[in-house]
Amino acid sequence: MGKIVIQNCPACGSNKYEKVLTASDYLVSGESFEIMECNDCSLRFTSPIPSNIEIGNYYKSDDYISHTGKGNSFINKIYRFVQYFTLCSKKKKVEKYSQKNSGLILDIGCGAGDFLKTMKQSGWEINGVEINEIARKLAGKNTGSVILNQTEFFKSEQKYDVITLWHSLEHLNTLTRFLEKISISLNANGVVMIAVPNYQSFDAEYFRQDWAAYDVPRHLYHFSFSAIVEIMEKFKFKLMESKQLPFDPFYVSLLSEFSVMKKHNILKALWIGWKSYWQGRKDARKGSSVLYIFKRG
Ligand SMILES: [Zn+2]
Repeated sequence: MGKIVIQNCPACGSNKYEKVLTASDYLVSGESFEIMECNDCSLRFTSPIPSNIEIGNYYKSDDYISHTGKGNSFINKIYRFVQYFTLCSKKKKVEKYSQKNSGLILDIGCGAGDFLKTMKQSGWEINGVEINEIARKLAGKNTGSVILNQTEFFKSEQKYDVITLWHSLEHLNTLTRFLEKISISLNANGVVMIAVPNYQSFDAEYFRQDWAAYDVPRHLYHFSFSAIVEIMEKFKFKLMESKQLPFDPFYVSLLSEFSVMKKHNILKALWIGWKSYWQGRKDARKGSSVLYIFKRG
């Protein structure tokens, strides 16, 4: 099986980086993947990675709920319970930061389309991009709208008021190409909202290679606060606000304890989640997952 070695940092292009961890694909293959850290911009990235053709095989899991909407394990049930609340909270945040109650929104990596459906129901015009074909079809059915694949997105000339990437930037195969396209697809006063895991969080530092949010090889990039701000500045975006996603430290700690380490100490997992939540509450730079809101600088 051919794997692709990443020669330069996918964010800043530096060739100065070093291996910091070896993590396992706990969800699908059990294979190990190495994680590098860029000495210049602090982005971590998975390398080598599966080829574009092979990567689809690493998404083939019933547990990959953000794509298939199925799966009945204990953790999936918690996830869906939390999802109900997070959909409402995402909508509120979009409306707060865009200062609009309607407009045209694009969700990149829209999965099965639950978020877009919520937005449509509240009066927004929606558009989505989803690379996974099964998820794309589901999203089309779910939202009653046309969902674009990658090629269609790059060809389209539509401009948006809001572009959201909820835990999807870390999956996109060409980081800078997508960010450039996002930058030209945004209206002058538009906002970009990006939620990604933060490897400098307490739970990440505690679980190290067993931190579920490394999620190799599906996560190609692992961001720190400074890495994402730096790359977005290259595309002329200015950080307006950053906020931790409050459920993520608990969810990721439970997933790390149960699914990655295959241990069952729920109290320990919740304790780590709580400590991480508390740090992220005081300082978003320490949040387990962080929502970044960018506008044009
Ligand atoms: Zn770099």
